[in-house]
Amino acid sequence: MKNYSFPHDQFKEVLASNAEYATTFKYSELSGSAAKGLAIVTCMDSRINPLSVVGMRSGDAKILRNAGARVTEDVIRTLVLATYLLNVDRILVMPHTDCAMASGDEADIHALIDEKFGVDTRSLEFRTTSNQEAALATDVNRIRAYPLLREGVTVAGAIYDVKTGTIIPVDC
Ligand SMILES: [Zn+2]
Repeated sequence: MKNYSFPHDQFKEVLASNAEYATTFKYSELSGSAAKGLAIVTCMDSRINPLSVVGMRSGDAKILRNAGARVTEDVIRTLVLATYLLNVDRILVMPHTDCAMASGDEADIHALIDEKFGVDTRSLEFRTTSNQEAALATDVNRIRAYPLLREGVTVAGAIYDVKTGTIIPVDC
């Protein structure tokens, strides 16, 4: 397999900002455990800064992200590890308002990509939903029901409002 040289041009400001960040780095003493015992499963949406949303900082919480904040096999796998080995005893599944993954059905998203790029993505399941609260309840209960999750872990769901920054708790 060929190794390509790092694309410095495309990551120029990323590397420059990191060099700056490292000059005042203050988290060297942190461990990999979640100091506040919290894991948040949320969307990749760039408007969400999960730690800031709950008043936390580096070292406090585990953050898992994907399109739509859906509870997939990989999310479950990660949560099992986090609850046994990384101090997590509270899990908050937190999708958000104005999420593209909750705005229509699967077929529409595939059609949109096909229309714009001429690529058929139907072999992938995007896990879109037209009922965000119902999908959230399904996902929260999927975690709760998972037999290998550590005993005593609390699992909850809430929706983050991208217009106000508020978390709205949902009964799941
Ligand atoms: Zn989203």
